[in-house]
Amino acid sequence: MSTYKPTIGIEVHAELNTKSKMFCACKNDPHASLPNTNICAVCLAHPGTLPRVNAEAIKKVLILGQAIKGEIADFSEFDRKQYFYPDIPKAYQLSQYAYPFVKGGELAGVAITRVHLEEDTARSSHTNANESNTNANGHSAVDFNRAGVPLMELVTEPVIHDADTASNFVKELQLMLRTLGISEANMEKGEMRVEANISISKTDQLGTKVEVKNLNSFKAMSQAIEFEISRQTEILDKNEAVKQETRGWDENKSRTFLQRSKEKADEYRYFPDPDIPKFVISEIDMFSRDNLSNATRDIPENIRIKYRDIGLTENQIEMLLLNPALRNFFEVGFVATSEDRGAESTRMAANYLTSDVAGLLSANPELKLDMVAVPGFVKLVFMLQKGEIGSRVAKDLLPQVLFELKDPETVAKEQGLLQLSSTDDLMGVILKVIESNEKVVADYKAGKESSVQFLVGQAMKETKGSANPAVLLTLFKEALK
Ligand SMILES: [Zn+2]
Repeated sequence: MSTYKPTIGIEVHAELNTKSKMFCACKNDPHASLPNTNICAVCLAHPGTLPRVNAEAIKKVLILGQAIKGEIADFSEFDRKQYFYPDIPKAYQLSQYAYPFVKGGELAGVAITRVHLEEDTARSSHTNANESNTNANGHSAVDFNRAGVPLMELVTEPVIHDADTASNFVKELQLMLRTLGISEANMEKGEMRVEANISISKTDQLGTKVEVKNLNSFKAMSQAIEFEISRQTEILDKNEAVKQETRGWDENKSRTFLQRSKEKADEYRYFPDPDIPKFVISEIDMFSRDNLSNATRDIPENIRIKYRDIGLTENQIEMLLLNPALRNFFEVGFVATSEDRGAESTRMAANYLTSDVAGLLSANPELKLDMVAVPGFVKLVFMLQKGEIGSRVAKDLLPQVLFELKDPETVAKEQGLLQLSSTDDLMGVILKVIESNEKVVADYKAGKESSVQFLVGQAMKETKGSANPAVLLTLFKEALK
């Protein structure tokens, strides 16, 4: 088998998390459980209806453009991309062709060609004759809840040469979409869909590219790229030509398969949509440079720098970046608050969130972090830091505070979990332990410093674990002076 140099370009579609659809006021909820509930005359393309552009969707694309340091367009233009398919009621898709909102830019070392805005299609489902019980010939159903949902398309330059770089790029983009609040970007839910254009060549001239669609996980993307590289290598080794085509990814068979030969742009007969007036971007206040720059502060790289300064570990940082719910909780409770929480308690909070809380959430998928639990969590961390409760008790209280919204102080008092740390509380115990351990006390006084730990242990036993060991140590040292 010969070696060829693979070249990969990536296309990513992401559903924007706006409140309403791209060209009408329908709720943007493509996952609504009942089909055809978020629909209207506009997104069903009834005759005589006119589209109205969603400014929030445009702003999100411009924010991404600013974050990747791309060139923002001077004016808006939407084009009709014409083709017939049952999931596209107008028989054209509103998209952008000649003038995307963003040109150029760079992310994770990968050069970006463009980012444009379009509308998503409806979702069709098909049953064949033997599965269907409503129609002897099988049937197809169309759900228009997704029709008209704002969809951004990002295209990279063909500058990637291996599956790892491709995967890393898409991961970084996913993080950015989430931290900037542009898209939920869950691949499993179809909120982010990846296509890879793959070609191989022995020379500097690019080979014939094959587009692989339906890559709905990072694993699928890596496997599909590896598969295409070896499939195309076999073809060229036999002195045959790779055909330009669109292929799908078969998860079960771990292989790509032919879907259709590739359309060319001229077959779509793009032309500017006459129903949508153009506007000059710089004339609109919400799209001003200042507004966009403010919105790009939370790019993943800035968050990494901020969290490193706080003293979080790299693992904790990546974990918070990957879990918007945890990060939001951390930000609201400890980072973005007007009160200074102190470095120690902030790090303590990050520890609990990325270990115990993350563990609880992944073991119980039905549980959700509610922001109303933030004050209780902050209080819990402070009680732990001040030594009012021990770490064992904190772990026990955590689910009650987070998911039953209980006040940690009240629960700790009711259940007698508060740590004894006042001198008055503990002095009786200290004296009792000293009296009943004459030999150990003598050893300590003779210079065997470690024996004091034994005394602390005895006092912990005596108080059934409710004493603060650090306070006990200090008190023993005082008493034995
Ligand atoms: Zn609608």
